[in-house]
Amino acid sequence: MKKEFVVIGLGRFGGSICRALAEQGMDVMAIDQDEDKVNEFLDIATHTVIANTTDESVLKNLGIRNFDHVIVAIGEDIQSSILTTLMLKEMGVNHITVKAQNDYHEKVLRKIGANHVVHPERDMGKRIAHYIVSNNVLDYLELSDEYSIVEIAVNSLLIGHSLIELDVRAKYGLNIVAIKRGKDIIVSPQADDYLEEGDILIVIGADSDINRFEKKVMTVD
Ligand code: ATP
Repeated sequence: MKKEFVVIGLGRFGGSICRALAEQGMDVMAIDQDEDKVNEFLDIATHTVIANTTDESVLKNLGIRNFDHVIVAIGEDIQSSILTTLMLKEMGVNHITVKAQNDYHEKVLRKIGANHVVHPERDMGKRIAHYIVSNNVLDYLELSDEYSIVEIAVNSLLIGHSLIELDVRAKYGLNIVAIKRGKDIIVSPQADDYLEEGDILIVIGADSDINRFEKKVMTVD
């Protein structure tokens, strides 16, 4: 069955989520209190609504609790973001994702039961810092405060070596969960798999260990 989403707040963040969900063929209800913003989504979203979501009766009349997932993308107005999230939670909405403006905002959102709190500016800043520090880091995904997954392009120090020779598990506490080789993905690579030029390692581990690995082996090339 098709999933149904609500996006509240159609700024850059909420707007791009709304577009991406629509492109994936999902049903999206797009809500903003600003009529001009809503008009931009008339041909994109399945339904559009001009409303202030801090008004509980608005949320009830829209039957919001019947949607699978509500994304609260109200940024600047932290009070509205918190109040909207609280009411969605009280109404029993299944899954709520909220954009946080800062750490205090994030803390409150977690306390009132947001299922997923995102911090796009901060998270993107972290990802970009990884690309900047090492040319070999192609992508970076934070799993928790301490653990991440990174995609690392192999360099001349790694090409021609087997995984057992590199022994990143013992030396760095990292796990190579897959190797991307052209269009193929070698899942759970074996100790005697040799690395080839163009390979991309998908590595999981603690941030401190990933940083050590990046510094030690990836700063060449
Ligand atoms: P972005 O960085 O994603 O562009 P932002 O973090 O600067 O956005 P805002 O522009 O403050 O966030 O808010 C995003 C949208 O949320 C705006 O279009 C605004 O009109 C809308 N919005 C703010 N408060 C409410 C509310 N109570 N009900 C509905 N929409 C709201």
